[in-house]
Amino acid sequence: MRCGIVRAYEQRQAVVGLEGSRQRPFSTFCRREARVKENGGMNNIDRSPLQRRFDIRKSQYLCERFEKSPNITEMCSVAPHLRICYAPCDASVLPSVRETFLLAYGHVKDWFGSRGDLAIDLWMAPTVADLEYMICMACGDGYMCAPGTRNGANIILFVSPLSSEKNTDRDRFSAVLAHEVTHHFVSDISRATMFSMKRKENLDVPLWLEEGLCQVIQSEVSPSFAARQSDEIAKTTEWYALGDLWNDLSACGDERKGYLQAFKETKAIVAKTGKAEVIRLLYLNRPHYVDWNALPDEGKTPAKARYVNDWRP
Ligand SMILES: [Zn+2]
Repeated sequence: MRCGIVRAYEQRQAVVGLEGSRQRPFSTFCRREARVKENGGMNNIDRSPLQRRFDIRKSQYLCERFEKSPNITEMCSVAPHLRICYAPCDASVLPSVRETFLLAYGHVKDWFGSRGDLAIDLWMAPTVADLEYMICMACGDGYMCAPGTRNGANIILFVSPLSSEKNTDRDRFSAVLAHEVTHHFVSDISRATMFSMKRKENLDVPLWLEEGLCQVIQSEVSPSFAARQSDEIAKTTEWYALGDLWNDLSACGDERKGYLQAFKETKAIVAKTGKAEVIRLLYLNRPHYVDWNALPDEGKTPAKARYVNDWRP
């Protein structure tokens, strides 16, 4: 399919935060030499616009604060519902990103047996600094996330393979992309609360299950990821109580272990109860309080309609 390249209208939105500023334009971030050093410092760029974005992190969740970098000005339609938004300097990687996107999307859609399609926009950052601007925090070049929705599209953010060595590894890149696409499918099917510390409070799909499903699918796309996870599980002796992994996994002390446990538990549940039952419960979450605590032990999970306000599992 031909790539129809059009100006991204959301560009205006991303520039708003910089208006009135006397700082150097954020477009300087597009320079390839503007890479994050090992120590977290920057080369030859003005960090003020970034610092202002970083300050927002103190008061807003990622799903509220993320914003497209003004350097991402172009858009390529991959399918009626799938688009890649990018900077002009990244046009040469579009064919390979497009192919990987379609494969990852197709795998996840098949996994959930979904008949409908999701509208997904990839926001491909030309540099790590652009990605940091979008998420309001420091990150590495392999960081990828599915922070929420904008203008009806589900958004995924990452750094262009031209500026990220990690994203040039096709096996890893396609698996992590499938992971992020899974977040959007889980969110669409279950209508779960966006990433925040409110999942438990709202008796909503626990993050250990959502991150677990993302990693189960990631491990299907990447055998090397699956092997690494098995090795790590074999080496780990102490685990969290699942109740500690309900909200954003960064809330537990050892985030890496939290993710590993999410994978381990969810893989076991999918093997024991079958993915059809897990998917059924995700749909049930829309109008019901589902007792997700019962899932690991019994496989059968009680649920009650959400209009019964005083019921707690
Ligand atoms: Zn995830």
